[in-house]
Amino acid sequence: MRRPIIAGNWKMNKTLSQSVDFIKEIKHLGDNTDVEVVVCVPFISLDRVKKELEGTNVKLGSQNIHWEESGAYTGEVSPLMLKEIGIDYAIIGHSERRQYFNETDETVNKKVKTSLNHGINPIICVGETLEEREENKAQDKVKTQVIKALKGVEENQMKDIVLAYEPIWAIGTGKTASSEDANEMISFIRNIIEDIYNEEISEEIRIQYGGSVKPANVTEIMNQPDIDGALVGGASLKKDDFTDLVRF
Ligand code: PGA
Repeated sequence: MRRPIIAGNWKMNKTLSQSVDFIKEIKHLGDNTDVEVVVCVPFISLDRVKKELEGTNVKLGSQNIHWEESGAYTGEVSPLMLKEIGIDYAIIGHSERRQYFNETDETVNKKVKTSLNHGINPIICVGETLEEREENKAQDKVKTQVIKALKGVEENQMKDIVLAYEPIWAIGTGKTASSEDANEMISFIRNIIEDIYNEEISEEIRIQYGGSVKPANVTEIMNQPDIDGALVGGASLKKDDFTDLVRF
């Protein structure tokens, strides 16, 4: 009953012209499939990519968003700017932003609420470091991140949220969590949602796995009962790979 969602996170890859060339190659991937296909492209490519995607079934997302509508925030991009372009999703709290740009659970929470208020669906990323996993603290870490990200989010807004479990040690490293481990954590996240909200919301919310998802492992990952999709970095940058992922 949960619609699968495969989202490409291009990260800081592809110039404007490369983005336009690439989107022309993949813009029909959302046709004739139940899978929701999303591309999260660099800010400066959003507008042109949006135009290329008109009339197609591929959705568009940003990789970040600011929590204020405007103001003295040099270098940032506001929800109003993104809304005007017409994006559908915003990745919030990606581990690279938490790690390199001091994003905290508090800023993640502000961004989640702002996105929802502007009709942009958040893809909220959570996940533990290798050290935390080895010290058996993975669940505690993820639980804290989920609870803090959703603080103040109303029940009726939960249908617009996608969660992404991305163990940091699996991102861009070629190491994937085993599909069973990933499913276990995602089922744990579902239980947290049930505790905060209720069973219905926990059954409805879509939760992706991310971290070295590629054509060779996508089927196994998507076959897990609690995993509803993938957030994909490296393998979303090539037409053949991304096509295979969407057709898992
Ligand atoms: P990866 O990145 O697929 O290159 O591991 C995933 C992500 O960071 O979203």
